[in-house]
Amino acid sequence: MKDLPPRVRFAPSPTGDLHVGNARTALFNWLFARRYGGVLVLRIEDTDQVRTSRVFEEHLLADLAWLGIDWDEGPGRGGPCGPYHQSERLPLYRDGLERLVAAGMVYPCFCTDEELEAERLSLLSRKLAPRYSGKCRRLDDDQRRRLAESGRPAAWRFHVPPGSIAFRDLIRGEMRFAGEALGDFIIVRSNGIPAYNFAVVVDDHLMGITHVIRGEDHLSNTALQLLLYRALGFEPPRFAHHALILGRDRAKLGKRHGATAVREFREQGVLPEALVNYLALLGSSFEAGREFSRVEETIASFSLDRAGKSGAVFDEDKLWWLNSLYIRQEAPEILARRLRPFVAAAGYGEIGTSRLHGIIAAVRDNLHDLTEIGDYLRIFDDDAYDLSPEARAIIADPEAREVIASLLDLLDGPVADVQGVQGDGGPEAQSRNAAASATGAGEDAGIAGANDEVTPSLYRTVIELLAERTGRRGKKLFLPLRAALTGRTRGPELDRCFSVLGRASLRRRLERALAV
Ligand code: GLU
Repeated sequence: MKDLPPRVRFAPSPTGDLHVGNARTALFNWLFARRYGGVLVLRIEDTDQVRTSRVFEEHLLADLAWLGIDWDEGPGRGGPCGPYHQSERLPLYRDGLERLVAAGMVYPCFCTDEELEAERLSLLSRKLAPRYSGKCRRLDDDQRRRLAESGRPAAWRFHVPPGSIAFRDLIRGEMRFAGEALGDFIIVRSNGIPAYNFAVVVDDHLMGITHVIRGEDHLSNTALQLLLYRALGFEPPRFAHHALILGRDRAKLGKRHGATAVREFREQGVLPEALVNYLALLGSSFEAGREFSRVEETIASFSLDRAGKSGAVFDEDKLWWLNSLYIRQEAPEILARRLRPFVAAAGYGEIGTSRLHGIIAAVRDNLHDLTEIGDYLRIFDDDAYDLSPEARAIIADPEAREVIASLLDLLDGPVADVQGVQGDGGPEAQSRNAAASATGAGEDAGIAGANDEVTPSLYRTVIELLAERTGRRGKKLFLPLRAALTGRTRGPELDRCFSVLGRASLRRRLERALAV
């Protein structure tokens, strides 16, 4: 059975937005399934009616899909082991409970929450481990009947036998728990809803799960679950508990450390490819020194024993660093698709594809996150760009104005001839021109149509002529141009700005700068 393709599952409780820690668990399961030709089941653990919400479930499915983590069975996909919502599986848990009742392995517990809390505090005050005393186990049938008749609701508790519970964790090795330390635990609450440890055993068994890969915060639950496997006569799956993500203070990553939800990072402009790479990389799941790993490589090299044993510190700087690498390397169509929502949010939803591709080609090396595209769209929009105070200060200098005026003059005069001579030059120039056209420069950029275009060779010629005319080079030449043309003192390479803006817009901006 162990040699059949593995069946793994991700079993989130939709009580909040997907946390990066849970996303990492989902990712490990997905990588494992894809690496070994297995099946990933998505099971929604929605028995907590108070904390579960439909909205969180929708977010969860959307966030997983955004990350590229697809499931083979589960919501929206169906499969032979459904339903895949625990709330729809209550009869299955009832069957399991009946078997345990018949076998005398569980007993009704009539203790109220207040009684249990008082018992817990009393144990704690005596420095004893807070576990259930087993009080209701000692009730006789008469006492049980009377309590039931008095209207006291009963939960079902599992009677933990003495002795140790051992298993070999695929990541952490030999694990051992003393049954004596656990205390009898509730498997079905007094409202009839199964407790997590019980439902998960019934489900993992009925869904044919072969490997349970989850966070190490579930280690002690595994001991309880193994007792239930044994009691129900089910063969347990294999377990792999990975270390958790920690904040810089080495405490479990939580709200106080900043953003923790996948959705937050998505809104902040992370590419899913970068987040997946980062989460897979965290905790030394990779060979040292290899930090950039596309998902296909990550699948091919994934193995559980490389998943970190010790907690991995979440380093946001590294995530953003990876993000800018991905932005630089992603295929243009994919990048454009990912950028579209941010383009729309910035108010440029109507922008044409080739114009957008042109702007992306110009600015991708400067983008650190996807939200920054809005700023560049404004910079390249004649009606929206603005001269920053720093840019104004630079333009105010007479020497800078001379450079700006000379460029304007060149654009109005000699450059047209220059383009005539060199524009259709040798094959090298032609292919450069083709590249410039592919960036979409000129399209819906202005009034001058095809002649509006500033090819790379034209750009070089203009700059050479300008240097000759003004006798200035380097910063003295480029900074005034950058300030006048983009309104900023930093930004994408100037040749790219020329190419995106086109001649008409260049002219308009130079005039505007001179008018300041
Ligand atoms: N619903 C549980 C959780 O989100 C599942 C734990 C498990 O994988 O067994 O923590």
